Amino acid sequence: VISVIPQRRPRVIALANQKGGVGKTTTAINLGTALAAIGEKVLIVDLDPQGNASTGLGVDRRSRKSSTYDVLCGDVGLGQALQPTAVPGLSLAPSTLDLLGVELEIASAKDRAHRLKKAIDELVYDQRCQDLTYVLIDCPPSLSLITINAMTAADAVLVPLQCEFFALEGLSQLLKTVEQVKAGLNPRLIIQGVVLTMFDPRNNLSGQVMADVRSFLGDKVYETVIPRNVRISEAPSYGKPALLYDLRCSGSQAYLRLASEVIKRERTLRAAA
Ligand code: ADP
Ligand code: MG
Repeated sequence: VISVIPQRRPRVIALANQKGGVGKTTTAINLGTALAAIGEKVLIVDLDPQGNASTGLGVDRRSRKSSTYDVLCGDVGLGQALQPTAVPGLSLAPSTLDLLGVELEIASAKDRAHRLKKAIDELVYDQRCQDLTYVLIDCPPSLSLITINAMTAADAVLVPLQCEFFALEGLSQLLKTVEQVKAGLNPRLIIQGVVLTMFDPRNNLSGQVMADVRSFLGDKVYETVIPRNVRISEAPSYGKPALLYDLRCSGSQAYLRLASEVIKRERTLRAAA
């Protein structure tokens, strides 16, 4: 399974926000599915010990043989941990609760921040992972060593932001962490964009938050806004992305639009590089 001729490194995007419940996992699953639906080859790396991305993609705990814990702490390659999903073109490196122990286990290792980067860099030599064009990393709700590993491995950070009163609170801390990683561990890191999630058009506050975030962050904010949509929240309990559960619902359609915006930005970034 080892190829001598390295393939092109996939674009690596970390979905990060130290707040829980803002839509990181939902965005990883549905953006990943939408990208796969338009022909990209996508790997979702579940870095949250809760394993919501793994469950939401129908990979139950019993079938998670190798996990991202083994990748960060053992000698398992990402390609070995990878599992197919019900979505053609979308695979998953699942997580297990073992990830809770990672921080302590690798805290004193010299390469502690580079464990994931190394695993992703090695993907280009793995024949099982040929044609991979995107890796989406679903981060835990913290700015811990796990998230630092994700930012060190990533080309870009995508920030899901919930349309609620405290949306911008904590954002400066997140941006500061991105700057710190950029200054020390990963100079090429950029912010791909900020996506507003759980937008409720009937709620005045949602509109106000959207206006505030746009005036603060400008064109870093995607035009696509993800609406609050009950189909989106139902889908994980069926172990399916919303796009498979109900393609026509407003949430699925929004994630398809987000995918084309992400690709458009990637093209612009590449052309500028
Ligand atoms: P995070 O990964 O940031 O903790 P999740 O993606 O797990 O956040 O989302 C938190 C909760 O909100 C989940 O129950 C999820 O199903 C729900 N949710 C996320 N996005 C939407 C949406 N657009 N509409 C309705 N519910 C949503
Ligand atoms: Mg999550």
